[in-house]
Amino acid sequence: MTEYPEVEVVQLQFNYLDYDDASVQGRLNYEVCLKHKKPVIVMEPVRGGALVKLPPAAQKVFDSLNGGSNASYAIRYAASFDNIIMTLSGMGNMEMMLDNIGYMKDFKPLNEAEFQAVSKVCKILKSQNLIGCTDCKYCVAGCPANIPIPTLFACLNSHNAYGGWGGGMYYEIHTSSAGKASDCVECGACETVCPQHLEIRSLLKKVAQQFEK
Ligand code: SF4
Ligand code: SF4
Repeated sequence: MTEYPEVEVVQLQFNYLDYDDASVQGRLNYEVCLKHKKPVIVMEPVRGGALVKLPPAAQKVFDSLNGGSNASYAIRYAASFDNIIMTLSGMGNMEMMLDNIGYMKDFKPLNEAEFQAVSKVCKILKSQNLIGCTDCKYCVAGCPANIPIPTLFACLNSHNAYGGWGGGMYYEIHTSSAGKASDCVECGACETVCPQHLEIRSLLKKVAQQFEK
């Protein structure tokens, strides 16, 4: 920002789970933008959809509020901060779009109770030790072992988040015509392109440990 003062706007990955995340550093990046008086466009407010499908304990927290969707709390959280001029969100169907218009047309920042609920949800998610993969798939094309990396991470996350439900079955399905986690030859190509700076090689060992016993 100091070297390029002509920058007019900054686009940041910014959501409640990444706000204090050590690798994404949402808060710190945002604070730099504030310091340099740059408006911010938010990307990944629902973290590639990961903040929509929540584990039961976290879902219970949002259900105790006033009936908003999980996406609405994630997107309104990001949009509640000063200096955010736009909150980008991928929507896959008409229902998602109508939901989005519903709470963004006459936008209201999160109130205190809603901020507290988001904070509780965040703690629950972090306590589950889920892999912070956003399913961008940047790592997939360069993998010599043809491992569907984000899909296998999603299997382990699903296993951990939902008490073991479904993860193993989906692992079998996804690896029947592609590489397994144990096929990794540890070339490291995936880690050089991962925007979340995940230690993919070591995480794949955990995946293999869980599903290839
Ligand atoms: S380190 Fe493993 S997962 Fe990553 S690109 Fe190489 S073979 Fe694929
Ligand atoms: S590059 Fe990283 S964040 Fe993107 S899909 Fe691969 S592991 Fe996930």
